[in-house]
Amino acid sequence: MIVTLDLGTTSVRCLAINKSGNCIAVAQEEFKQYFPQAAWVEHDGMEIWEKTVTVLQAVLKKINGTPNGIAITNQRETTIAWQPSTGKPLHHAIVWQCRRTAERISSLSQSDKSLIKKITGLIPDAYFSASKMEWLYNNVATIKQAAQNNDLYFGTIDTWILFKLSKSSVFKTDTSNASRTLLVNLESKDYDPNLLALFNIKREWLPAIENSNALFDYSDASITGSEIPIHAILGDQQSALYAQCGNDNKRIKNTYGTGLFVASSTGNKIVETPTLLSTIGWTLNNETTYALEGSIFVGGSAIQWCRDQLNLINHANESETLAQSIPDNDNVYFVPALAGLGAPHWDSRARGMFIGITRGTTKAHMIRAILESLAYQTKDVCDVISNILTPATQLSVDGGASNNEFLMQFQADILGIPVKKSSITEVTAYGVAGVAGIALNLFSENEFRSFFQIEHHYTPMFDKDKIDVYYSKWKEAVKRSLQWS
Ligand code: ADP
Repeated sequence: MIVTLDLGTTSVRCLAINKSGNCIAVAQEEFKQYFPQAAWVEHDGMEIWEKTVTVLQAVLKKINGTPNGIAITNQRETTIAWQPSTGKPLHHAIVWQCRRTAERISSLSQSDKSLIKKITGLIPDAYFSASKMEWLYNNVATIKQAAQNNDLYFGTIDTWILFKLSKSSVFKTDTSNASRTLLVNLESKDYDPNLLALFNIKREWLPAIENSNALFDYSDASITGSEIPIHAILGDQQSALYAQCGNDNKRIKNTYGTGLFVASSTGNKIVETPTLLSTIGWTLNNETTYALEGSIFVGGSAIQWCRDQLNLINHANESETLAQSIPDNDNVYFVPALAGLGAPHWDSRARGMFIGITRGTTKAHMIRAILESLAYQTKDVCDVISNILTPATQLSVDGGASNNEFLMQFQADILGIPVKKSSITEVTAYGVAGVAGIALNLFSENEFRSFFQIEHHYTPMFDKDKIDVYYSKWKEAVKRSLQWS
């Protein structure tokens, strides 16, 4: 049995998954979000640790016997600084969504920006860890002091929890998390000296980078009852990609959560494109699988916005019946640039927009336009991936908004390929559990893949002409939203 810690952005979850692939126990705790200024987001590292212990102990209590291993998957890029001598954070963690370093990133010279893309595969952005570390060092006196005393560690959430769970003895991360710091060379999988210098970060403040399926250490028996091997770490999107597609580059996965995360594996090749991120998928037994990823900032959160700010609906799933209540979109389009536009446009000045509305437009049209916009944004990224790799034959979906039947059918229609949703809803937790279970010989990779039965299969219904009519209007709408600043 594998116990997975799924350390998300708003909650920590723990799942026990047995060798037949069944989830036999689960526990979850939400934690507080701090917004000290507009567009700043922080977490309390101690609270995340305490709630991790709570969910871990709750699951261990529910299961019979000792699990074979612990696996960790986590929100990526979020950065925390702590003092190894005390095991205490020196500041709140700066969350991936936080925009406090946006100006610093835009002030980088064009040559530095090109260097970053070339070395790390990432598009320079405040989203990644490096500028968050630099901000912490420059703005928090106790962090500067700790650096002078050689008593400073920086890490992502996986590293922080691993450190705490190993009785403050292990300071490590895996390649998938390391590749999101903006400091790691994609080829060598090591920190790049030029980038460390650019952000004024010392290598000794950073964790050692290991295989994703390494034996990282053993858990503290005073917390888990006995010492349990900690045997896999993966960033959350990479974990979902491993579960959904593995090495199959004809499949693309999309996680429809707050944002949309579209990704496909590119095998042992680093594939570069100006508009998407090249990143490390996972490293297993020293073999690295790379991935192409498109991060779309606004996905399910546009539906939340309709519910909480516009009061158009009371519950997210009402959006499905409303959208289905009208025969078509009646030429109403929505561009969800509520936080600028991410992949593949990367324009932070773009602003959200409804277009095509008339006196006859109803709430149903607006909701339908919003749901359709999630599908068009997904197509924007899938088309780039298909053009570069090989035409995709399937989109594998997960995340909250993948429960919306209207959206999934429209997604299949507009992509022209089937959309498949598995019976396993906790895809992120399963990916890293699979990596750990295979490393521990609990099951083979084939057995792991057989855990995923297709529950819903959405077959495309539009012909090419119809796709072109809808999609060209969307592109026109995006063009107009990019002009607004
Ligand atoms: P995260 O992990 O990012 O918190 P989840 O995978 O839990 O996200 O999905 C939550 C998001 O999905 C919310 O933004 C919510 O508005 C959206 N959502 C949930 N159910 C539906 C639905 N039936 N239709 C459309 N959107 C939905």
